[in-house]
Amino acid sequence: YFVEPDHFTDHEVTIVGDDVHHIVNVMRAKEGEEIFVSDGSGRSARARLAILSAKEVKATVVERLEEKRELPIRVTIGQGLPKGEKMEWILQKGTELGAFSFFPFSSERTIVKLDAKKEAKKLERWRKIIKEAAEQSHRDVLPQLLPPVSFREALAAGAQYTRCVIAYEKEGGATLHQVMDELSAKDSLLVLIGPEGGFSPDEVAQAEAKGFLSVSLGPRILRTETASQYVLACASYQFER
Ligand code: SAM
Repeated sequence: YFVEPDHFTDHEVTIVGDDVHHIVNVMRAKEGEEIFVSDGSGRSARARLAILSAKEVKATVVERLEEKRELPIRVTIGQGLPKGEKMEWILQKGTELGAFSFFPFSSERTIVKLDAKKEAKKLERWRKIIKEAAEQSHRDVLPQLLPPVSFREALAAGAQYTRCVIAYEKEGGATLHQVMDELSAKDSLLVLIGPEGGFSPDEVAQAEAKGFLSVSLGPRILRTETASQYVLACASYQFER
């Protein structure tokens, strides 16, 4: 379970919100049982359930966990907003594979339109999916999901990363292999993945003008929901030998 950092002391963790229902009613856990907790930014522990009520669960820290399960390189997925439920899949699997953070963006060939109300609902649902996937895969860090941005804002966001790439299937780009070989665990990598219809040549030129490197993810055209998973799996292969 993920708890707020100020609910996680050296000795005790306090769980509130939906997780209380999960522990008490879904898992039907009892005092003395152990759970795995993390503050979402790298502090994790094994803790023993001590006090359970309908509103709050308190657990005593048994052991701080030093095992590191985080992908050594920070990979952020900028995902062209896909149709249907694909974003949910991307966030769930991307979290399992170790993504550091995600943000959706809209671009020339984006089909889905989100108004403010829909966007707020989607963000809430997407964050829940990330949290559950992070718990399931015992992540120490809870991946952040930033609100959707425009393509231009996605390019501007590149300034926060040490390496930015745009995945483009047309010939001529660098290979992901070359990019990975030049990176170290200290880097933070931003990868932009296009929506179903891909990026226009003009968008790729704009990205390159902002310092993004155009990269190929191999000779086959991957579906938009596969592309990010491929990048994350390659990062794991490169940095978790
Ligand atoms: N525009 C293409 C089409 O409709 O034939 C394909 C777009 S692809 C389904 C969606 C996104 O996945 C692309 O914009 C790109 O970011 C990424 N992608 C898929 N396969 C790729 C590859 N082999 N190399 C680089 N990027 C790829």
